[in-house]
Amino acid sequence: MGFRYGSYCEFICIECGGRLLGCDHSQSNNRIVARGESSHTRSMISINIVAIPTELAEAVCTTQKSPRYGHPVYTAIATGYGPCRHCLKAFRVGEEQLTLFTHDPFEGIESLPLPGPVFVHTNKCERYPEDAGYPQELLRYPSVLDAYAKGRRLLSETVATEGSQPEIIQRLFENPEVQYVHVRDKSAGCYDFRVERR
Ligand SMILES: [Zn+2]
Repeated sequence: MGFRYGSYCEFICIECGGRLLGCDHSQSNNRIVARGESSHTRSMISINIVAIPTELAEAVCTTQKSPRYGHPVYTAIATGYGPCRHCLKAFRVGEEQLTLFTHDPFEGIESLPLPGPVFVHTNKCERYPEDAGYPQELLRYPSVLDAYAKGRRLLSETVATEGSQPEIIQRLFENPEVQYVHVRDKSAGCYDFRVERR
Protein backbone atom coordinates (compact mmCIF):
# COMPACT_ATOMS: atom_id res chain seq x y z
CA MET A 1 0.00 0.00 0.00
CA GLY A 2 1.34 3.41 -0.97
CA PHE A 3 4.92 4.63 -0.79
CA ARG A 4 7.68 2.38 0.25
CA TYR A 5 10.08 4.35 2.38
CA GLY A 6 12.90 1.97 1.69
CA SER A 7 16.57 2.90 1.64
CA TYR A 8 16.67 3.00 -2.16
CA CYS A 9 14.29 5.92 -2.37
CA GLU A 10 14.49 9.25 -0.57
CA PHE A 11 11.71 11.81 -0.83
CA ILE A 12 12.68 15.48 -0.92
CA CYS A 13 10.79 18.77 -0.93
CA ILE A 14 11.23 20.56 -4.26
CA GLU A 15 11.04 23.97 -2.55
CA CYS A 16 13.91 23.64 -0.15
CA GLY A 17 15.47 20.29 -0.93
CA GLY A 18 14.80 19.11 2.61
CA ARG A 19 13.91 15.55 3.33
CA LEU A 20 10.23 14.79 3.07
CA LEU A 21 8.42 15.48 6.32
CA GLY A 22 11.57 16.94 7.78
CA CYS A 23 11.35 20.34 6.09
CA ASP A 24 9.15 23.34 6.82
CA HIS A 25 7.07 22.73 3.71
CA SER A 26 6.18 19.19 4.55
CA GLN A 27 2.62 19.96 5.52
CA SER A 28 1.82 22.35 2.72
CA ASN A 29 0.42 21.37 -0.60
CA ASN A 30 3.79 20.91 -2.27
CA ARG A 31 4.86 18.34 -4.71
CA ILE A 32 7.69 16.13 -3.73
CA VAL A 33 10.13 14.20 -5.79
CA ALA A 34 11.69 10.88 -5.14
CA ARG A 35 15.34 10.43 -5.89
CA GLY A 36 17.30 7.27 -5.97
CA GLU A 37 16.41 4.42 -8.23
CA SER A 38 13.03 5.87 -9.04
CA SER A 39 12.34 9.35 -10.41
CA HIS A 40 8.57 9.63 -10.19
CA THR A 41 6.75 12.61 -8.70
CA ARG A 42 3.89 12.41 -6.23
CA SER A 43 1.71 14.96 -4.50
CA MET A 44 1.70 15.12 -0.76
CA ILE A 45 -1.72 14.70 0.74
CA SER A 46 -2.73 17.88 2.54
CA ILE A 47 -4.07 17.27 6.01
CA ASN A 48 -5.95 19.11 8.72
CA ILE A 49 -5.15 18.67 12.38
CA VAL A 50 -8.44 18.83 14.27
CA ALA A 51 -8.25 19.71 17.95
CA ILE A 52 -11.44 19.84 20.04
CA PRO A 53 -13.62 22.88 19.28
CA THR A 54 -13.10 26.05 21.32
CA GLU A 55 -16.78 26.06 22.34
CA LEU A 56 -16.33 22.61 23.87
CA ALA A 57 -13.19 23.56 25.81
CA GLU A 58 -14.89 26.69 27.11
CA ALA A 59 -18.06 24.82 28.06
CA VAL A 60 -16.02 22.33 30.08
CA CYS A 61 -14.30 25.01 32.11
CA THR A 62 -17.39 27.17 32.52
CA THR A 63 -19.90 24.51 33.53
CA GLN A 64 -17.39 22.24 35.33
CA LYS A 65 -19.20 19.32 33.74
CA SER A 66 -18.42 17.07 30.79
CA PRO A 67 -20.60 18.22 27.87
CA ARG A 68 -23.11 15.56 26.83
CA TYR A 69 -22.24 13.25 29.74
CA GLY A 70 -22.62 15.59 32.70
CA HIS A 71 -19.82 14.02 34.73
CA PRO A 72 -18.13 16.51 37.02
CA VAL A 73 -14.72 17.58 35.74
CA TYR A 74 -11.50 17.28 37.72
CA THR A 75 -9.05 20.17 37.92
CA ALA A 76 -5.47 19.87 39.15
CA ILE A 77 -1.89 20.92 38.53
CA ALA A 78 -0.40 18.92 35.67
CA THR A 79 1.55 15.82 36.63
CA GLY A 80 2.02 14.68 33.03
CA TYR A 81 2.58 16.28 29.62
CA GLY A 82 -1.02 15.84 28.46
CA PRO A 83 -1.26 17.36 25.88
CA CYS A 84 -4.06 19.94 26.08
CA ARG A 85 -6.60 18.75 23.47
CA HIS A 86 -7.42 22.31 22.50
CA CYS A 87 -4.03 24.00 21.90
CA LEU A 88 -2.19 20.66 21.49
CA LYS A 89 0.66 21.87 23.64
CA ALA A 90 2.28 19.75 26.31
CA PHE A 91 1.49 20.83 29.86
CA ARG A 92 4.26 22.31 31.96
CA VAL A 93 4.36 19.69 34.69
CA GLY A 94 3.98 21.09 38.19
CA GLU A 95 3.04 24.53 36.88
CA GLU A 96 -0.04 24.58 34.66
CA GLN A 97 -3.55 23.77 35.74
CA LEU A 98 -5.48 21.21 33.72
CA THR A 99 -9.07 20.07 33.62
CA LEU A 100 -9.97 16.45 33.01
CA PHE A 101 -13.31 15.59 31.44
CA THR A 102 -15.11 12.87 29.47
CA HIS A 103 -15.11 13.30 25.70
CA ASP A 104 -16.41 11.34 22.73
CA PRO A 105 -13.94 11.79 19.85
CA PHE A 106 -16.56 10.53 17.39
CA GLU A 107 -19.12 13.17 18.31
CA GLY A 108 -20.58 14.79 15.21
CA ILE A 109 -18.96 12.23 12.93
CA GLU A 110 -20.31 8.83 13.88
CA SER A 111 -23.45 7.71 15.67
CA LEU A 112 -21.79 5.22 18.03
CA PRO A 113 -19.80 7.04 20.75
CA LEU A 114 -16.58 5.94 22.41
CA PRO A 115 -16.05 8.30 25.36
CA GLY A 116 -12.81 8.58 27.26
CA PRO A 117 -10.85 10.93 29.52
CA VAL A 118 -9.06 13.96 28.03
CA PHE A 119 -7.39 17.12 29.37
CA VAL A 120 -7.51 20.79 28.50
CA HIS A 121 -5.85 23.84 30.00
CA THR A 122 -8.09 25.23 32.74
CA ASN A 123 -7.22 28.74 31.65
CA LYS A 124 -8.05 29.93 28.15
CA CYS A 125 -5.69 28.87 25.37
CA GLU A 126 -5.61 29.22 21.60
CA ARG A 127 -6.97 26.33 19.55
CA TYR A 128 -4.27 24.62 17.45
CA PRO A 129 -4.55 25.84 13.82
CA GLU A 130 -5.91 23.10 11.57
CA ASP A 131 -3.49 23.88 8.76
CA ALA A 132 -0.32 23.91 10.87
CA GLY A 133 0.64 20.29 10.27
CA TYR A 134 1.45 17.69 12.88
CA PRO A 135 2.29 19.50 16.15
CA GLN A 136 6.09 19.59 16.23
CA GLU A 137 6.06 19.62 20.01
CA LEU A 138 4.26 16.27 20.11
CA LEU A 139 6.48 14.40 17.66
CA ARG A 140 8.68 13.16 20.48
CA TYR A 141 5.83 11.35 22.22
CA PRO A 142 5.09 7.84 20.94
CA SER A 143 1.56 7.62 19.64
CA VAL A 144 -0.91 5.19 18.14
CA LEU A 145 -2.46 6.15 14.80
CA ASP A 146 -5.89 4.63 14.24
CA ALA A 147 -7.09 4.79 10.63
CA TYR A 148 -10.89 4.73 10.30
CA ALA A 149 -13.17 4.14 7.36
CA LYS A 150 -16.70 5.53 7.28
CA GLY A 151 -18.92 3.99 9.91
CA ARG A 152 -16.16 4.00 12.54
CA ARG A 153 -14.61 0.93 10.96
CA LEU A 154 -11.04 0.59 12.23
CA LEU A 155 -8.79 -0.30 9.31
CA SER A 156 -5.41 -0.24 11.02
CA GLU A 157 -3.63 0.70 14.22
CA THR A 158 -0.03 1.84 13.86
CA VAL A 159 2.46 2.69 16.60
CA ALA A 160 4.54 5.76 15.69
CA THR A 161 7.76 6.74 17.44
CA GLU A 162 10.67 9.12 16.91
CA GLY A 163 8.80 11.63 14.79
CA SER A 164 7.53 9.13 12.25
CA GLN A 165 3.91 10.26 12.69
CA PRO A 166 3.66 12.59 9.63
CA GLU A 167 5.19 9.98 7.34
CA ILE A 168 2.87 7.26 8.56
CA ILE A 169 -0.18 9.54 8.28
CA GLN A 170 0.68 10.24 4.64
CA ARG A 171 0.87 6.52 3.99
CA LEU A 172 -2.44 5.86 5.74
CA PHE A 173 -4.29 8.48 3.66
CA GLU A 174 -3.08 6.88 0.44
CA ASN A 175 -5.79 4.36 1.13
CA PRO A 176 -8.97 6.06 -0.17
CA GLU A 177 -11.03 4.11 2.36
CA VAL A 178 -9.41 6.02 5.22
CA GLN A 179 -11.70 8.91 6.21
CA TYR A 180 -9.81 10.15 9.25
CA VAL A 181 -7.04 9.16 11.65
CA HIS A 182 -7.26 9.32 15.43
CA VAL A 183 -4.01 10.05 17.23
CA ARG A 184 -3.79 8.47 20.66
CA ASP A 185 -1.11 8.43 23.30
CA LYS A 186 0.81 5.17 23.22
CA SER A 187 1.23 4.73 26.96
CA ALA A 188 -2.04 6.18 28.28
CA GLY A 189 -4.18 5.22 25.27
CA CYS A 190 -6.16 8.45 25.48
CA TYR A 191 -7.41 10.32 22.42
CA ASP A 192 -5.30 13.35 21.44
CA PHE A 193 -6.69 14.72 18.16
CA ARG A 194 -8.04 13.83 14.71
CA VAL A 195 -6.35 14.11 11.33
CA GLU A 196 -8.38 14.58 8.14
CA ARG A 197 -7.71 15.19 4.48
CA ARG A 198 -7.95 18.91 3.71
ZN1 LIG B 1 -4.38 24.44 25.88
